Amino acid sequence: MDFSHYTDEPVDLAIALVNTAQTKTDRIGDLSRLRAFLDDYRHMWEGIARPVSKGDLEPIHRLREALRSVIDSPDDAAASAMVNRILAEHGAQPRVSVHNGDAHFHFEPFDSSMSCWLGATTAMGLASVMVENGMSRFGVCNADDCDDVYVDASRNRSRRHCSSTCSTREAVTAYRRRQSAGVGADG
Ligand SMILES: [Zn+2]
Ligand SMILES: [Zn+2]
Repeated sequence: MDFSHYTDEPVDLAIALVNTAQTKTDRIGDLSRLRAFLDDYRHMWEGIARPVSKGDLEPIHRLREALRSVIDSPDDAAASAMVNRILAEHGAQPRVSVHNGDAHFHFEPFDSSMSCWLGATTAMGLASVMVENGMSRFGVCNADDCDDVYVDASRNRSRRHCSSTCSTREAVTAYRRRQSAGVGADG
């Protein structure tokens, strides 16, 4: 990713969190699934946020919707208002931390619950993209049956899909469509 080192992981996490909401299934629908999701990001929160508990489930589902609405915002003003609201609601406060060597920013309150850590961290991730790269970097997958979001970190802003799975599948569909259109025209 092009984004500065301290923001790219929070951005990835924000996008992954939004994309846990699937039409047929909620990948963080209960505490054990939420715990499994957060385990993949353990290096980011261990020793900083309290481990996830049942009380985090509902706030994190609400956070997910709020992050989604940042990305779906019609314009910069709406997106920034929403991002600022998430930051305020999660008690975000900038500070410098040296817990793993080099000084870097943290935005969650001290002794943070998992939902506060997650809210402050992911909202700052999206805020950094907006400030440094612009909202046009946010996108929703172009594939017919996919609503997943992405952040376009490509140099020429050419990204249209959430994943290579979706772009491959859509390329195959388009190819078949052209094939069958061709057959129809010939005969
Ligand atoms: Zn840190
Ligand atoms: Zn997709």
